[in-house]
Amino acid sequence: AVTSGEPLNDSERDFEGALRPQSLNEFVGQHKVVSQLGLLLKAAEMDSRTPDHILLSGPPGLGKTTLAMIVAHESGRSLRMSSGPAISHAGDLAALLSSLVPGEVLFIDEIHRMARSAEEMLYLAMEDFRIDIMVGKGVGASSIPLDLPPFTLVGATTRTGLLASPLRDRFGFTAHLEFYEVEELKTVLSRSAQLLSINIPDSALLEIARRSRGTPRIANRLLRRVRDYMTVHSSEDAAHAVELALALYDVDERGLDRLDRSVLSALVERFNGGPVGVNSLAISIGEESETIEATVEPFLIREGLMSRTHRGRIATSQGWAHLGLTPPSINP
Ligand code: ATP
Repeated sequence: AVTSGEPLNDSERDFEGALRPQSLNEFVGQHKVVSQLGLLLKAAEMDSRTPDHILLSGPPGLGKTTLAMIVAHESGRSLRMSSGPAISHAGDLAALLSSLVPGEVLFIDEIHRMARSAEEMLYLAMEDFRIDIMVGKGVGASSIPLDLPPFTLVGATTRTGLLASPLRDRFGFTAHLEFYEVEELKTVLSRSAQLLSINIPDSALLEIARRSRGTPRIANRLLRRVRDYMTVHSSEDAAHAVELALALYDVDERGLDRLDRSVLSALVERFNGGPVGVNSLAISIGEESETIEATVEPFLIREGLMSRTHRGRIATSQGWAHLGLTPPSINP
């Protein structure tokens, strides 16, 4: 999955796994999505059918994988996990679908990155629980229909706009996950601190929450770094540890990380505050434009540091101020 900063290593994956909420009740925030999902699962259970296909969109680390696991757990079904990049042709998808057990929940992360041929196969599978398998090539080619067990697809993507509309339209329910409020992140952190037996005062948790880019994954990661700092320096001064550990990992007082700041500085310093297209911005800092659009931009926009216009991205006056600069008078 696209993550802010470095990809997850094994130890981080284990750490995340240990902190994942298991039920909708334990899932913090996203109240609307949680109620909608609760209703959908309940209705399916009462009608004894598999729940509708679900599409989850939003920046990385906001809980899409966690929700997929909860859907399986709450409906008492098993979960099969895959991802768009792992499905590089229709055959991969056919193998996956034909091996599902009846009623299983299939989670496909980064579903927008699946091969085109697989995507077309998926339309029929989602709608009719059936696929056509092509055998042979050229004039002798024929297709063999194969019935599939009923399943619930949970797709995750950073932006629904990345999906072709025939695929998007086949999901019975689409939810967009929003960045979390500071108080919600503080709740996530209190729970994590308790699970990991970390003794840390509320004021320090609040400070970590404020600097976590509205993202539970980042909040948990920063908590871990602060814990490391306190262990290594035998420090009991949590407030001090938060300051120093976050500075060490280049997280500034507003929660921007190195990549966020390099995008904002490029926008302000190289493009004089914009407007500039996302591709030029990405090239200027040697980053993929998909990463910028999925990860950096939504956060900078929500923080009021950048905005999107029809002519391109611009830095707001707050964006300039965050870098300690004054915008030229024509900028907003
Ligand atoms: P990606 O698409 O990058 O895989 P994601 O959106 O699937 O990200 P998750 O892996 O579900 O994100 O969540 C990341 C971590 O954040 C998990 O370890 C989970 O414990 C925690 N987390 C996410 N959402 C919540 C929440 N609402 N309440 C508590 N913890 C959460």
